[in-house]
Amino acid sequence: MFIGPAGSGKTSLIYAFGSWIEKELGLNVACVNLDPGAEVLPYKPVLDIRNFFTMRDVMVKYGLGPNGAFIKASELVAEYSDKILSMNPFSNLSEWDYILVDTPGQMEAFIFRPASNIFFSKLSRLASIAGIYIIDASAIAGLADAITLWFLGLLAQVKTGIQIVPVVNKIDIAVNKEYARLLIEAPEKLIEIARIEREQGILSDLAPELLSLALKTKQALRPVEVSAKEGYGMNELYYLIHEVFCTCGDLT
Ligand code: GDP
Repeated sequence: MFIGPAGSGKTSLIYAFGSWIEKELGLNVACVNLDPGAEVLPYKPVLDIRNFFTMRDVMVKYGLGPNGAFIKASELVAEYSDKILSMNPFSNLSEWDYILVDTPGQMEAFIFRPASNIFFSKLSRLASIAGIYIIDASAIAGLADAITLWFLGLLAQVKTGIQIVPVVNKIDIAVNKEYARLLIEAPEKLIEIARIEREQGILSDLAPELLSLALKTKQALRPVEVSAKEGYGMNELYYLIHEVFCTCGDLT
């Protein structure tokens, strides 16, 4: 499952990563689009939620504005979940090596709503799931940005119960990729910077505490930096996902 804030690069990364797996490894990849608001997709989905409803349908049918429609659409994903999971590629798991799922653009309207739990609990009975949580490197200027985006991924793990793997995307236009990388790899190195920034009044009092929590909850995951646009880092992303599925492995 590819999750992340709107515009972080879920759709682009699915296309780049899926093409890389097919071309480099010769494996069968199915892409699934669960975003009813998608306009143009770079990949060809095996299953597309827009065959059931689009955002425009939801707005018209229920007389809703864009935000209400996003929430209604996520309820519809849950309502249609049995139907969705009875169709290819989910009905045909032995045919596919990987299924890459594009989640609705507005993370808060899907991941952080009850609907996602319904969908994930049904899906997890069928297959092993990893959540690729995308951190947009172009959205990280300061430490507060890095902490906020990283925590959103942790909250997604709490909310969905699936293993979440953070990935830093848009590395080609990163503003401060060091912070995002250190959060995943060595949050202790950021605590001192946070203390200084707090004393200067730049950062909230909460920031060093949150970084300490990051340290406690840190998984043994190596930071992976990718660029969906330039196709960079696909190899590292592939091995990271492998590690998640390998329960016997040492993740360091
Ligand atoms: P989504 O809403 O999370 O699915 O994000 P999209 O895949 O639609 O990407 C949002 C915008 O970011 C698009 O204009 C993409 O071209 C751009 N984008 C995505 N990944 C990258 C990347 O790695 N580098 C750059 N420079 N732009 C990217």
